[in-house]
Amino acid sequence: MTAIERTELFIAGEPRASVGKEYYDVHNPARPNELVGRAALATVDDINLAVEAAHDAFPAWSALSYHERAEYLRNIAKVLTEETEEVKERSKLFTREHGKILRETYMELSRLGDRFLSVADLAERIATPESYRAPPFDTFIVQQPRGVAALIVPWNWPLSILGAKLPQALLAGNTCVIKPSENSPLAPSKTLEIIGSLLPKGVVNVVTGSASKIGDALVGHPKVRTVNFTGSVRIGKHVMRTAAENLAHVTLELGGNDAGLILQDANLDQSAFQRMYLGAFSSAGQVCMALKRVYVHASRYDEVVDGLKAACNLSVVGDGLLAGTTMGPVNNAKQLEVVRGLIDQARNAGAEVVECGTIPDDSLYYGGGYFQRPALVLDADPSLSVVTEEQFGPVLPIVKFDSEEQAIALANDTPFGLCSSVWTEDSEKAKSLAMQIEAGYTYVNGHGPMAQDNRAPFGGFKDSGIGRNLGIEGVLGFTESHAVSATPGFFDDPKA
Ligand code: NAD
Repeated sequence: MTAIERTELFIAGEPRASVGKEYYDVHNPARPNELVGRAALATVDDINLAVEAAHDAFPAWSALSYHERAEYLRNIAKVLTEETEEVKERSKLFTREHGKILRETYMELSRLGDRFLSVADLAERIATPESYRAPPFDTFIVQQPRGVAALIVPWNWPLSILGAKLPQALLAGNTCVIKPSENSPLAPSKTLEIIGSLLPKGVVNVVTGSASKIGDALVGHPKVRTVNFTGSVRIGKHVMRTAAENLAHVTLELGGNDAGLILQDANLDQSAFQRMYLGAFSSAGQVCMALKRVYVHASRYDEVVDGLKAACNLSVVGDGLLAGTTMGPVNNAKQLEVVRGLIDQARNAGAEVVECGTIPDDSLYYGGGYFQRPALVLDADPSLSVVTEEQFGPVLPIVKFDSEEQAIALANDTPFGLCSSVWTEDSEKAKSLAMQIEAGYTYVNGHGPMAQDNRAPFGGFKDSGIGRNLGIEGVLGFTESHAVSATPGFFDDPKA
């Protein structure tokens, strides 16, 4: 029998029980009767302790040079990317609490290490002040950390997403209080405890528990100077309102409803359909930058339907721990209900919905596991909710278009603006269409995490968010610019 895991809070360099000494249960979405573990249930008192610990650690951490902090990040990266038995066990725990397949959880754990390493390499750029050395002033501009950063992540890719904010916050000189999601707290807490123990006490603090009890206390704490939130639009707006009370800076990475435009000249070989499939259905579609709406030129519609059906039919849906499973369950019952609701609404409106692939183990399905086979909504009417809303699950509508102008109008007809893709052999057309799409990222002939360059900034237009993570912009988001001016010649070396 597998042991039941228990994770603690991590405050001021120590794992510790919550003030209330309470824990909450975490179940396996593939086998909802299976208790995977218990996570510490933080109280508002714990939030205060965590923020105070981060605040106390700030002066010494922010006084280090960028290069000194980068050395900490490199050391963390080294530990996170070691291929040990413990990492394998942690990936299994992650799969059991989250649902997604073992290959994906293992990749997510190592990607976090890779992100620490690539952020460390930005130290030189951020350490070099911008300067103006000509009358009427000699001026130099340095980047200073903001202070205590609250980092809040969702359940779908908690560690990859932390990799887009935690090393950046640390390199910039901030200290952090991190709140993983209720729906996947165990492997993230264990991983963050490893990271925290490689840093001076109080630089990284971790709180788990019910967001409705502790969320506002964290975001609205007067000593929190910046909030970097990833999650839904609804909660993102609430977080922004709460942070406004203290005029704390916010970065919001919110939902998406990414369009992929498949043009008349697209190269639609088998590998293109494999990339499309992965862009839409990795992690059972629970990816912010997943392909969520396919728009295809009418002349290529039949090919796209056949190609996507063939790719989807290879899916083996089941327990992510089992060899051979290519798609795990949806993470939680509420999200499964959303996805099934969208499929039902499309069917009831007369759309043809094909569900592909297999669930070989019936006992899992009938045991109440949150499974949904990949579904395609064919020739979808643009007004269907499965087109207008973020599905965040394994269902993909396919819509025909006749002209590129119409395709751009359809792609932009959404409150979201996270990512997008253009599928074409014409590089000039790809650039031109990308510039017309209201989104923070456009992939060409690919979509989603596999197509993304992590050196580039990531974030959304419109309801998809405010600010950017990743890239040098991701580090700058955790800094304030500070200008210092004097009469010309006053500074020997304005860059000193
Ligand atoms: P969610 O908004 O429900 O929760 C996100 C996080 O916020 C969780 O940790 C939750 O506990 C916390 N939270 C909830 N209420 C809070 C409050 N009042 N104060 C502070 N924190 C609070 O989102 P979710 O269901 O976990 O994730 C799915 C959503 O996240 C989707 O919309 C998806 O598109 C989005 N997402 C966006 C990105 C991106 O980079 N743009 C990445 C991944 C997921």
